[in-house]
Amino acid sequence: MTSRAATLRTPDELVAQGLVSPDSLPALEKVAARYAVAVTSDVAALIDKADPNDPIARQYIPSADELVTQPGEDADPIGDHSHSPVNGIVHRYPDRVLFKLVHVCPVYCRFCFRREMVGPGKPNALSDEGYRTALDYIRSHREVWEVILTGGDPLMLSPRRLGEIMADLAAIDHVKIIRIHTRVPVADPVRVSAEMVAALKVEGATTWVAVHANHPRELSDSARAACALLTDAGIPLVSQSVLLRGVNDDAATLEALMRAFVENRIKPYYLHHGDLAPGTAHLRTTLAHGQELMRTLRGRVSGLCQPEYVLDIPGGHGKAPVGPSYLSQPDSPQRDKLEATRYRVVDYCGEVHFYPTQSP
Ligand code: SF4
Repeated sequence: MTSRAATLRTPDELVAQGLVSPDSLPALEKVAARYAVAVTSDVAALIDKADPNDPIARQYIPSADELVTQPGEDADPIGDHSHSPVNGIVHRYPDRVLFKLVHVCPVYCRFCFRREMVGPGKPNALSDEGYRTALDYIRSHREVWEVILTGGDPLMLSPRRLGEIMADLAAIDHVKIIRIHTRVPVADPVRVSAEMVAALKVEGATTWVAVHANHPRELSDSARAACALLTDAGIPLVSQSVLLRGVNDDAATLEALMRAFVENRIKPYYLHHGDLAPGTAHLRTTLAHGQELMRTLRGRVSGLCQPEYVLDIPGGHGKAPVGPSYLSQPDSPQRDKLEATRYRVVDYCGEVHFYPTQSP
Protein backbone atom coordinates (compact mmCIF):
# COMPACT_ATOMS: atom_id res chain seq x y z
CA MET A 1 0.00 0.00 0.00
CA THR A 2 1.39 3.46 -0.87
CA SER A 3 1.18 6.07 1.86
CA ARG A 4 -0.30 9.47 1.10
CA ALA A 5 2.02 12.45 0.70
CA ALA A 6 2.01 14.69 3.77
CA THR A 7 0.26 18.05 3.88
CA LEU A 8 2.68 20.90 3.12
CA ARG A 9 2.77 23.30 6.07
CA THR A 10 5.79 25.57 5.69
CA PRO A 11 7.19 27.87 2.99
CA ASP A 12 10.29 25.64 2.92
CA GLU A 13 8.15 22.66 1.99
CA LEU A 14 6.38 24.69 -0.70
CA VAL A 15 9.76 25.65 -2.17
CA ALA A 16 10.91 22.02 -2.05
CA GLN A 17 7.83 21.00 -4.05
CA GLY A 18 8.40 23.75 -6.62
CA LEU A 19 5.19 25.53 -5.64
CA VAL A 20 6.90 28.84 -4.81
CA SER A 21 10.25 30.29 -5.81
CA PRO A 22 13.12 30.33 -3.29
CA ASP A 23 13.31 34.15 -3.70
CA SER A 24 9.93 34.56 -2.07
CA LEU A 25 10.93 32.62 1.05
CA PRO A 26 11.69 35.61 3.37
CA ALA A 27 8.31 37.25 2.65
CA LEU A 28 6.42 33.97 2.89
CA GLU A 29 8.03 33.19 6.26
CA LYS A 30 6.47 36.45 7.51
CA VAL A 31 3.07 35.50 6.07
CA ALA A 32 3.25 32.03 7.62
CA ALA A 33 4.13 33.50 11.01
CA ARG A 34 0.76 35.29 10.99
CA TYR A 35 -1.59 33.08 8.96
CA ALA A 36 -1.61 29.28 8.93
CA VAL A 37 -0.48 27.43 5.82
CA ALA A 38 -1.60 23.94 4.75
CA VAL A 39 -1.78 22.43 1.29
CA THR A 40 -2.91 18.81 1.14
CA SER A 41 -1.47 16.42 -1.43
CA ASP A 42 -4.84 16.39 -3.23
CA VAL A 43 -4.77 20.16 -3.62
CA ALA A 44 -1.06 20.25 -4.53
CA ALA A 45 -1.77 17.74 -7.30
CA LEU A 46 -4.34 20.12 -8.84
CA ILE A 47 -1.87 23.00 -9.16
CA ASP A 48 -0.31 23.67 -12.54
CA LYS A 49 3.21 24.71 -11.53
CA ALA A 50 3.88 26.08 -15.01
CA ASP A 51 1.07 28.62 -14.65
CA PRO A 52 2.10 31.66 -12.56
CA ASN A 53 -1.60 32.58 -12.23
CA ASP A 54 -2.92 29.14 -11.47
CA PRO A 55 -6.42 29.55 -9.93
CA ILE A 56 -5.90 26.68 -7.49
CA ALA A 57 -2.54 28.03 -6.30
CA ARG A 58 -4.08 31.48 -5.76
CA GLN A 59 -6.49 30.00 -3.24
CA TYR A 60 -4.00 28.04 -1.15
CA ILE A 61 -0.40 29.15 -1.73
CA PRO A 62 0.59 32.11 0.46
CA SER A 63 1.58 35.36 -1.21
CA ALA A 64 3.57 38.40 -0.09
CA ASP A 65 0.42 40.47 -0.87
CA GLU A 66 -1.04 39.11 2.38
CA LEU A 67 1.38 41.30 4.31
CA VAL A 68 -0.53 44.40 3.16
CA THR A 69 -3.61 45.21 5.23
CA GLN A 70 -5.92 47.72 3.55
CA PRO A 71 -8.03 50.33 5.37
CA GLY A 72 -11.37 48.77 6.27
CA GLU A 73 -10.00 45.25 6.57
CA ASP A 74 -10.69 43.74 9.94
CA ALA A 75 -9.58 40.67 11.93
CA ASP A 76 -13.27 39.84 12.54
CA PRO A 77 -14.78 41.08 9.26
CA ILE A 78 -18.26 39.61 9.70
CA GLY A 79 -18.58 40.45 13.39
CA ASP A 80 -18.63 36.94 14.91
CA HIS A 81 -17.40 38.24 18.27
CA SER A 82 -20.21 40.71 18.80
CA HIS A 83 -22.78 37.89 18.44
CA SER A 84 -21.04 35.27 20.53
CA PRO A 85 -22.92 34.73 23.82
CA VAL A 86 -20.66 31.82 24.88
CA ASN A 87 -17.42 30.45 23.50
CA GLY A 88 -17.99 28.49 20.28
CA ILE A 89 -21.47 29.90 19.53
CA VAL A 90 -22.42 32.74 17.19
CA HIS A 91 -26.12 33.63 17.47
CA ARG A 92 -26.82 36.24 14.83
CA TYR A 93 -30.30 35.22 13.59
CA PRO A 94 -33.11 34.02 15.87
CA ASP A 95 -33.62 30.53 14.44
CA ARG A 96 -30.03 29.39 13.95
CA VAL A 97 -26.60 29.37 15.53
CA LEU A 98 -23.09 28.75 14.31
CA PHE A 99 -21.31 26.18 16.44
CA LYS A 100 -17.54 26.46 16.03
CA LEU A 101 -16.22 23.10 17.20
CA VAL A 102 -12.67 23.16 15.90
CA HIS A 103 -10.21 25.77 14.76
CA VAL A 104 -8.26 23.64 12.31
CA CYS A 105 -8.84 22.94 8.62
CA PRO A 106 -7.40 20.53 6.06
CA VAL A 107 -6.09 23.52 4.09
CA TYR A 108 -5.85 27.22 4.89
CA CYS A 109 -7.50 29.37 2.26
CA ARG A 110 -5.66 32.62 1.62
CA PHE A 111 -8.92 34.62 1.56
CA CYS A 112 -10.43 33.08 4.70
CA PHE A 113 -12.67 35.47 6.66
CA ARG A 114 -11.69 33.70 9.89
CA ARG A 115 -7.98 33.66 9.09
CA GLU A 116 -7.10 35.35 12.39
CA MET A 117 -9.00 32.62 14.28
CA VAL A 118 -8.15 29.37 12.48
CA GLY A 119 -4.94 27.37 12.42
CA PRO A 120 -2.68 25.53 14.81
CA GLY A 121 -1.82 27.58 17.88
CA LYS A 122 -4.83 29.91 17.66
CA PRO A 123 -6.47 30.32 21.06
CA ASN A 124 -9.99 29.30 20.05
CA ALA A 125 -10.07 25.54 20.60
CA LEU A 126 -13.24 24.56 22.43
CA SER A 127 -12.52 22.75 25.71
CA ASP A 128 -14.77 19.92 26.96
CA GLU A 129 -16.32 22.35 29.39
CA GLY A 130 -16.76 24.94 26.62
CA TYR A 131 -18.48 22.28 24.51
CA ARG A 132 -20.94 21.49 27.31
CA THR A 133 -21.66 25.18 27.90
CA ALA A 134 -22.31 25.72 24.20
CA LEU A 135 -24.63 22.70 24.12
CA ASP A 136 -26.51 24.05 27.17
CA TYR A 137 -26.91 27.37 25.36
CA ILE A 138 -28.52 25.64 22.35
CA ARG A 139 -30.70 23.53 24.68
CA SER A 140 -32.00 26.59 26.52
CA HIS A 141 -32.79 28.55 23.33
CA ARG A 142 -35.88 26.88 22.00
CA GLU A 143 -35.97 29.16 18.95
CA VAL A 144 -32.85 27.48 17.55
CA TRP A 145 -34.09 25.28 14.71
CA GLU A 146 -30.78 24.92 12.85
CA VAL A 147 -27.23 24.41 14.10
CA ILE A 148 -24.46 25.16 11.62
CA LEU A 149 -21.21 23.37 12.40
CA THR A 150 -18.35 25.45 11.13
CA GLY A 151 -15.00 26.54 12.35
CA GLY A 152 -12.45 25.52 11.33
CA ASP A 153 -13.66 22.48 9.50
CA PRO A 154 -15.90 20.11 11.49
CA LEU A 155 -14.97 17.16 9.26
CA MET A 156 -11.46 17.33 10.76
CA LEU A 157 -12.99 15.56 13.77
CA SER A 158 -12.87 11.79 13.95
CA PRO A 159 -16.05 9.96 12.93
CA ARG A 160 -16.39 8.77 16.53
CA ARG A 161 -16.32 12.31 17.96
CA LEU A 162 -18.53 13.67 15.18
CA GLY A 163 -21.05 10.93 15.87
CA GLU A 164 -21.19 11.91 19.55
CA ILE A 165 -21.70 15.58 18.70
CA MET A 166 -24.38 14.84 16.11
CA ALA A 167 -26.21 12.65 18.65
CA ASP A 168 -25.96 15.37 21.34
CA LEU A 169 -27.46 17.93 18.97
CA ALA A 170 -30.15 15.66 17.56
CA ALA A 171 -31.27 14.83 21.10
CA ILE A 172 -32.34 18.47 21.53
CA ASP A 173 -36.01 18.53 20.57
CA HIS A 174 -36.11 21.90 18.84
CA VAL A 175 -32.94 21.30 16.75
CA LYS A 176 -34.25 19.94 13.46
CA ILE A 177 -31.41 20.74 11.06
CA ILE A 178 -27.65 20.24 11.45
CA ARG A 179 -25.70 21.88 8.64
CA ILE A 180 -21.99 21.22 8.20
CA HIS A 181 -19.75 23.60 6.30
CA THR A 182 -16.67 21.89 4.96
CA ARG A 183 -13.72 22.00 2.60
CA VAL A 184 -12.86 18.34 3.29
CA PRO A 185 -14.58 16.68 0.28
CA VAL A 186 -12.46 18.90 -1.99
CA ALA A 187 -9.22 19.29 -0.02
CA ASP A 188 -8.89 15.91 1.66
CA PRO A 189 -11.55 13.67 0.11
CA VAL A 190 -10.26 10.43 1.61
CA ARG A 191 -11.49 11.65 5.01
CA VAL A 192 -15.05 11.18 3.78
CA SER A 193 -15.22 7.52 4.74
CA ALA A 194 -18.17 5.20 5.25
CA GLU A 195 -17.64 5.70 9.02
CA MET A 196 -17.83 9.46 8.65
CA VAL A 197 -20.98 9.28 6.54
CA ALA A 198 -22.58 7.00 9.13
CA ALA A 199 -21.63 9.46 11.88
CA LEU A 200 -23.31 12.31 10.03
CA LYS A 201 -26.65 10.54 9.73
CA VAL A 202 -28.54 10.83 12.94
CA GLU A 203 -32.00 10.11 14.30
CA GLY A 204 -33.98 13.18 15.26
CA ALA A 205 -32.43 15.79 12.96
CA THR A 206 -31.73 16.22 9.24
CA THR A 207 -28.13 16.69 8.17
CA TRP A 208 -27.18 19.02 5.32
CA VAL A 209 -23.63 19.47 4.08
CA ALA A 210 -22.36 22.68 2.45
CA VAL A 211 -19.35 21.92 0.25
CA HIS A 212 -16.90 24.77 -0.28
CA ALA A 213 -15.25 24.95 -3.73
CA ASN A 214 -14.35 27.91 -5.89
CA HIS A 215 -13.02 26.50 -9.14
CA PRO A 216 -14.33 23.63 -11.30
CA ARG A 217 -10.94 21.87 -11.15
CA GLU A 218 -11.41 21.45 -7.40
CA LEU A 219 -14.19 18.97 -8.17
CA SER A 220 -11.62 16.30 -9.00
CA ASP A 221 -12.52 12.63 -9.43
CA SER A 222 -11.80 11.95 -5.76
CA ALA A 223 -13.78 15.02 -4.64
CA ARG A 224 -16.71 13.84 -6.78
CA ALA A 225 -16.47 10.37 -5.23
CA ALA A 226 -16.47 11.86 -1.72
CA CYS A 227 -19.56 13.94 -2.52
CA ALA A 228 -21.26 10.87 -4.02
CA LEU A 229 -20.71 8.95 -0.77
CA LEU A 230 -22.64 11.66 1.04
CA THR A 231 -25.46 12.04 -1.46
CA ASP A 232 -25.84 8.27 -1.95
CA ALA A 233 -26.39 8.07 1.81
CA GLY A 234 -29.26 10.54 1.44
CA ILE A 235 -27.43 13.60 2.77
CA PRO A 236 -28.38 16.67 0.72
CA LEU A 237 -25.49 18.85 -0.45
CA VAL A 238 -25.38 22.57 -1.17
CA SER A 239 -22.44 24.61 -2.37
CA GLN A 240 -20.70 27.64 -1.06
CA SER A 241 -18.12 29.56 -3.04
CA VAL A 242 -16.31 32.86 -2.69
CA LEU A 243 -15.98 35.18 -5.66
CA LEU A 244 -12.22 35.56 -6.02
CA ARG A 245 -10.17 37.68 -8.36
CA GLY A 246 -8.09 35.53 -10.71
CA VAL A 247 -9.82 32.36 -9.53
CA ASN A 248 -13.45 32.43 -10.64
CA ASP A 249 -14.26 36.06 -11.52
CA ASP A 250 -15.09 35.32 -15.15
CA ALA A 251 -18.36 34.03 -16.53
CA ALA A 252 -16.94 30.86 -18.14
CA THR A 253 -15.30 29.66 -14.90
CA LEU A 254 -18.32 30.46 -12.75
CA GLU A 255 -20.59 28.71 -15.24
CA ALA A 256 -18.37 25.60 -15.28
CA LEU A 257 -18.23 25.61 -11.46
CA MET A 258 -22.00 25.84 -11.06
CA ARG A 259 -22.62 23.18 -13.70
CA ALA A 260 -20.09 20.88 -11.99
CA PHE A 261 -21.91 21.32 -8.68
CA VAL A 262 -25.28 20.43 -10.17
CA GLU A 263 -23.84 17.47 -12.11
CA ASN A 264 -22.61 16.17 -8.76
CA ARG A 265 -25.96 16.65 -6.99
CA ILE A 266 -24.76 19.75 -5.14
CA LYS A 267 -27.30 22.58 -5.30
CA PRO A 268 -25.53 25.95 -5.75
CA TYR A 269 -26.36 27.93 -2.62
CA TYR A 270 -24.08 30.87 -1.83
CA LEU A 271 -21.61 32.86 -3.88
CA HIS A 272 -20.01 35.06 -1.24
CA HIS A 273 -18.53 38.43 -2.03
CA GLY A 274 -15.01 38.43 -0.56
CA ASP A 275 -14.99 39.59 3.06
CA LEU A 276 -12.75 42.39 4.31
CA ALA A 277 -10.31 40.00 5.95
CA PRO A 278 -6.79 41.37 6.47
CA GLY A 279 -4.35 40.94 3.61
CA THR A 280 -6.94 39.70 1.10
CA ALA A 281 -7.49 42.76 -1.14
CA HIS A 282 -5.56 41.13 -4.01
CA LEU A 283 -8.22 38.39 -4.11
CA ARG A 284 -11.32 40.58 -3.90
CA THR A 285 -13.38 41.88 -6.82
CA THR A 286 -15.88 44.73 -6.83
CA LEU A 287 -19.58 44.30 -6.14
CA ALA A 288 -20.30 45.83 -9.56
CA HIS A 289 -18.22 43.10 -11.23
CA GLY A 290 -19.96 40.43 -9.16
CA GLN A 291 -23.36 41.73 -10.23
CA GLU A 292 -22.32 41.76 -13.87
CA LEU A 293 -21.19 38.14 -13.58
CA MET A 294 -24.49 37.15 -11.98
CA ARG A 295 -26.37 38.85 -14.82
CA THR A 296 -24.32 36.88 -17.34
CA LEU A 297 -24.85 33.64 -15.44
CA ARG A 298 -28.62 34.16 -15.45
CA GLY A 299 -28.53 34.16 -19.26
CA ARG A 300 -26.25 31.14 -19.57
CA VAL A 301 -27.33 28.48 -17.09
CA SER A 302 -30.56 27.06 -15.75
CA GLY A 303 -32.13 28.12 -12.47
CA LEU A 304 -30.73 24.98 -10.86
CA CYS A 305 -27.23 26.39 -11.41
CA GLN A 306 -27.90 29.84 -9.89
CA PRO A 307 -26.28 30.58 -6.53
CA GLU A 308 -27.34 33.54 -4.43
CA TYR A 309 -24.69 36.28 -4.51
CA VAL A 310 -24.38 37.53 -0.92
CA LEU A 311 -22.43 40.02 1.11
CA ASP A 312 -21.80 39.57 4.81
CA ILE A 313 -22.32 43.10 6.03
CA PRO A 314 -19.23 44.16 8.01
CA GLY A 315 -19.87 44.55 11.73
CA GLY A 316 -22.00 41.42 12.15
CA HIS A 317 -25.22 42.65 10.52
CA GLY A 318 -25.77 39.41 8.63
CA LYS A 319 -25.98 38.50 4.97
CA ALA A 320 -27.64 40.58 2.28
CA PRO A 321 -28.38 39.33 -1.23
CA VAL A 322 -26.48 41.70 -3.54
CA GLY A 323 -27.21 40.19 -6.93
CA PRO A 324 -28.55 42.46 -9.67
CA SER A 325 -32.16 43.54 -9.44
CA TYR A 326 -34.39 42.74 -12.40
CA LEU A 327 -37.42 44.68 -11.23
CA SER A 328 -37.68 48.43 -10.75
CA GLN A 329 -40.42 50.87 -9.81
CA PRO A 330 -42.37 52.74 -12.51
CA ASP A 331 -40.35 55.47 -14.15
CA SER A 332 -40.67 59.21 -13.53
CA PRO A 333 -44.04 60.89 -14.27
CA GLN A 334 -42.90 62.54 -17.52
CA ARG A 335 -43.08 59.09 -19.15
CA ASP A 336 -46.38 58.11 -20.75
CA LYS A 337 -49.23 57.42 -18.38
CA LEU A 338 -49.28 53.66 -18.90
CA GLU A 339 -45.58 53.24 -18.14
CA ALA A 340 -46.03 55.27 -14.96
CA THR A 341 -48.27 52.55 -13.57
CA ARG A 342 -46.09 49.59 -14.47
CA TYR A 343 -42.96 47.97 -13.11
CA ARG A 344 -39.96 47.64 -15.37
CA VAL A 345 -38.65 44.06 -15.63
CA VAL A 346 -35.38 43.25 -17.36
CA ASP A 347 -35.03 39.88 -19.08
CA TYR A 348 -31.86 37.82 -19.35
CA CYS A 349 -30.90 39.58 -22.62
CA GLY A 350 -31.10 42.99 -20.92
CA GLU A 351 -34.37 44.02 -22.61
CA VAL A 352 -36.91 45.98 -20.60
CA HIS A 353 -40.53 44.85 -20.25
CA PHE A 354 -43.46 46.15 -18.21
CA TYR A 355 -45.71 44.57 -15.62
CA PRO A 356 -48.75 46.13 -13.88
CA THR A 357 -48.18 47.51 -10.38
CA GLN A 358 -51.66 46.44 -9.33
CA SER A 359 -53.59 43.27 -9.95
CA PRO A 360 -56.43 43.73 -12.41
S1 SF4 B 1 -11.55 25.79 5.11
FE1 SF4 B 1 -12.99 27.46 5.62
S2 SF4 B 1 -12.43 28.09 7.73
FE2 SF4 B 1 -10.73 26.86 6.90
S3 SF4 B 1 -9.30 28.33 6.02
FE3 SF4 B 1 -10.67 27.70 4.34
S4 SF4 B 1 -12.33 29.20 4.35
FE4 SF4 B 1 -11.26 29.37 6.33
